[in-house]
Amino acid sequence: MEFWRPEVEALPPEKLRAHQEKLLLEYVKYAYEHSPYYRRQFDERGLRPEDIKNLDDFFEKVPMISKLEIIENEREKPPFGEFLAVPPDKVVRIFISPGPIFYPLTKDELENAVEMCAACFYTCGVRAGDVVDVAFAYNWVPAGTVFDDACRRIGAAVIPAGTGFTDMHIQVMRAASVTAFVGTPSFLMQIGKRAQELGLKPKQDLRLRVGVFTGEAVPDSLKRELNALFGLAPMEIYAAAEVGIMARECPAAASGKVRGLHIYEDIVLELIDPKTGEHVPPGEPGEVVATFLQRRSMPLLRYRTGDLAAGLEEGVCECGRSSSRLLKIVGRVSDVVKVRGMFVVPSQVESVLRRHPELGRFQMVIERPATLDELTIVVESKDRSEELRKTLESELKEVIKLRASVEFVDKLYEDAKLVVDKREFE
Ligand SMILES: [Zn+2]
Repeated sequence: MEFWRPEVEALPPEKLRAHQEKLLLEYVKYAYEHSPYYRRQFDERGLRPEDIKNLDDFFEKVPMISKLEIIENEREKPPFGEFLAVPPDKVVRIFISPGPIFYPLTKDELENAVEMCAACFYTCGVRAGDVVDVAFAYNWVPAGTVFDDACRRIGAAVIPAGTGFTDMHIQVMRAASVTAFVGTPSFLMQIGKRAQELGLKPKQDLRLRVGVFTGEAVPDSLKRELNALFGLAPMEIYAAAEVGIMARECPAAASGKVRGLHIYEDIVLELIDPKTGEHVPPGEPGEVVATFLQRRSMPLLRYRTGDLAAGLEEGVCECGRSSSRLLKIVGRVSDVVKVRGMFVVPSQVESVLRRHPELGRFQMVIERPATLDELTIVVESKDRSEELRKTLESELKEVIKLRASVEFVDKLYEDAKLVVDKREFE
């Protein structure tokens, strides 16, 4: 087995936890001593860094932070609000993400960010000698430049392609024998289709052997299509500008032997119930909350990503890594409804209905006629047969793990809401 950082990637689970706790205690102390924001947060709660002795204390006592709180704080005192935790002249890069949110980085931190991405790309199979097309934006956000640096650190040659210019990508992929693609899966699909229009056979005429995808949902069906079209290994990473790469797929997961994306070893990742803030039971879906233990210019403790993941899987993987695996991101927390204690995401319902191209738009209606929630999927359909209704209900049950009734209508209102919650909450 090959690891970029064997000293942490191959640690047994209990040693990995110890590694994280050691970093965490230093990090909490650092945040308290250097970040005016965390100094205030801790003082207001009468909390001292010494009160955090392990991960459980951290989860129990340290407040979470959302994107909105960062935006508001920075807006009051631009550009970094109360977050800057290093002398201003140590900042060498400022990344901007929509909001806008300003992220300062020092030279050392940029090194850490590149190292993190290199470790993750290496897990995905990028190697020295690869020629990589980096098809993420190089302006404002970290993606393009940091991924570029990471591929070069591995020893690959990088084409700083950025977004757009489909035909140019095809031309360059052929001429320079590009072997790896880093970008969104939908853009690579567009490249593949365009190549076919131009009379090329992507599998034979191009040399792509690995694709590293992020930036949007990466459905398994799309991965299979990309594999069939290019003959490449479709690998997924999960990233956010606020944290970095939080998780990446390993070859064992890509081949379907195990599920999920390994969490980066220097990140503490939790799944919470977005309503209560409590940890969800093992294996259940929840909002991703992440702490990158190496971020020094702008420490963020327990950052709420707003992404809902299907669950976490524990246990040492066939690839030899022991970090837990994050299951699929199924949607945004803002789109989620809780029915009978289970999260239901419109995109899950949509994925079932899409298997039947004859169906039109749909609406999710949740009611509580007595004590139990009832979920009805109202869907536009010409076919009103009992057979179709039964098929849909059983397919839905499989995906959303809940019984839902299906109702057919000719047409929904033009601006019908996706989710209608008729329950009354006290
Ligand atoms: Zn693995």
